[in-house]
Amino acid sequence: MNIHEYQAKEVLRKYGVTTLKGKVAHSPEEAAAAAKEIGGALWVVKAQIHAGGRGKGGGVKIARTTEEVRELAKKMIGMTLVTHQTGPEGKKVQKVFIEQGCDIAKEYYVACLVDRVTGRVAMMASSEGGVEIEEVAAHRPEAIKKVDIDPVVGLMPFQARQLAFQIGMTPDVVNQAVKFFIGLYEAFVKSDCSIAEINPLVVTKEGKVIALDAKMNFDSNALFRHPEILELRDLNEEEPTEIEASKYDLAFIKLDGSIGCLVNGAGLAMATLDIIKLHGESPANFLDVGAVPTKKRSLRPLKSF
Ligand code: GDP
Ligand code: MG
Repeated sequence: MNIHEYQAKEVLRKYGVTTLKGKVAHSPEEAAAAAKEIGGALWVVKAQIHAGGRGKGGGVKIARTTEEVRELAKKMIGMTLVTHQTGPEGKKVQKVFIEQGCDIAKEYYVACLVDRVTGRVAMMASSEGGVEIEEVAAHRPEAIKKVDIDPVVGLMPFQARQLAFQIGMTPDVVNQAVKFFIGLYEAFVKSDCSIAEINPLVVTKEGKVIALDAKMNFDSNALFRHPEILELRDLNEEEPTEIEASKYDLAFIKLDGSIGCLVNGAGLAMATLDIIKLHGESPANFLDVGAVPTKKRSLRPLKSF
């Protein structure tokens, strides 16, 4: 399950990850009022959709007056934002996040994820922040540093310090970065995330380490342990067929091909997708009705075919 940037920042703050002052707004008036409340002379208006790449698509704008905040919010709310992650149909913006602006000295990348090879949580960081990590991985893989984390002891301060130095952080900000990285790891583990990504993490001209963007994705199988996170779910952002499927305990992902799949067991479902691809066709969905399909789980998908 995905959440919005403003929600992810709220979760991260609880673990000591530093963010700027900000407030979500559903209308231009709320946006202007939020800017007034936040104070200062520079704000950033950020479209809240479950997709990255908003900056390039016109979903992140800087404002110098509260009137400008109102106007930008007016333009953004209701618009369809197209980014490389939304697909060509884009996503409708329902709310914006008004955040205090800051003077960026340098942008970095840091993320926590599950490494399937080691079977452990890993932290990845790079000096190349604010750009797509896939691009960095393709063109400058040596700029991405990784540390494997022992689940018994968690992320050790020396590992966090090493990672900060490896990505070229200067000694004056390393202590802040260590606290930040450990906070990010704690948030990841305690909330059962599948990914927690900060892109960019910035060092400001005043020497503060701050999460300027935040993406958190949670393991759906563990959500029963986190009712407070489940409350952050935004059904507006989800595919309607996937919402319907979740009511029936089905593991369902809509895909863009033409062959419908109804399979019992995730492994068999994956293999089925592979076979379809191998023969040059594309699946319309991934659907696992469970290794032991019940009546409830099996009858609803049959209605759709
Ligand atoms: P994304 O494009 O969806 O990943 O959205 P981000 O939150 O990462 O914002 C995109 C870019 O906008 C960042 O990489 C920054 O360069 C820029 N940006 C965001 N907030 C600020 C800010 O407070 N000040 C300045 N100068 N730039 C910002
Ligand atoms: Mg970003």
